[in-house]
Order: sequence, then structure tokens, then C-alpha cells
Amino acid sequence: MKTLQRTLTIIKPDAVRRNAIGDIIEQFEKNGFRILAMKMLQISKHQAEQFYAVHASRPFFNTLTDFMSSGSLVVLALEKENAVADLRKLMGATNPANAEDGTIRRKWATNIEHNAIHGSDAEDTARFELSFFFAGYELAK
Ligand code: GDP
Repeated sequence: MKTLQRTLTIIKPDAVRRNAIGDIIEQFEKNGFRILAMKMLQISKHQAEQFYAVHASRPFFNTLTDFMSSGSLVVLALEKENAVADLRKLMGATNPANAEDGTIRRKWATNIEHNAIHGSDAEDTARFELSFFFAGYELAK
């Protein structure tokens, strides 16, 4: 039996500013992800700090949370078999200089911080991140 998995992705403010939303969503659909839920919103600095709490002690925490609260985001709940790992592969490496050809970061990221897209890094992280942005009824599909 196939086991479907869910993951959370964010099209970050740099990619929204570059009019990359449509291209990135097309990549999700072409690569077999089903879009369960999607919305465009802007988060506060405080909300960005909550979302990235795991990075609170990192030197880039302040600039990262400034960046993530600097403009509109598009957040999506995606589903497919092996969704967490497959999305990470489609995104490419955190630093676009190391991202493989054909990945979203290779095409759209500017630098290691302004890197176009977020994707959950594990199944438990995905559960936290999905519930951060979506209410239960929005994912009841
Ligand atoms: P990801 O899972 O590939 O997004 O990477 P991480 O979880 O390690 O980091 C979260 C986000 O913080 C990244 O997507 C970048 O936007 C930012 N980031 C990570 N490493 C660095 C860094 O060394 N410098 C800066 N300025 N930002 C970073």
C-alpha cells in the first residue's frame, strides 16, 4: 500500500518579489505533489521568530526573521509519497551555489539566506509547520 506523506513549503519573499510563484507551483505539480491547501500572507517578525525558533541561537536568526517578515509569503501544504525528502530534493541545497541543476533554488535563489523556498526537513517538523500555518479543517482532505 502506498503511504502518502504531507509537508509544508513556503515560497519566500524574495521569490514572491521576483514573480516566481507560478513557476514554483508548476514544479510542485509536475513533480507529483498534490496541493492540499495554499495561502498568501505576511507574517510579523515575532511570528517568524516562532516559526524558526529552532534556529534562535544561530548567527543569522535576526536577518532571517527580518527577511521572512519583509513581504508576502505563499504557504502550501503538499502531499505525495515520500513528500518530505522529495521536496527537499526538488528545492536543492540551502546555498544556491551548491544546488543542483533543475532545482528550484538553483533557478530562483539569490544567496544562502534569500533562497526562494522553505521545505520541512523531517516528518515531525512537517507536522509542527503544517499546524503553524493551517487549521485542522483546512487540511481535512
Ligand atoms: P533549509 O532547511 O535548507 O532551509 O536550511 P536551514 O534549516 O539550515 O536554515 C533555514 C534558513 O536559514 C535557510 O533556508 C536560509 O534562508 C537561512 N540560512 C541558513 N544558513 C544560513 C547562513 O549560513 N547564513 C545566512 N545568512 N542564512 C542562512
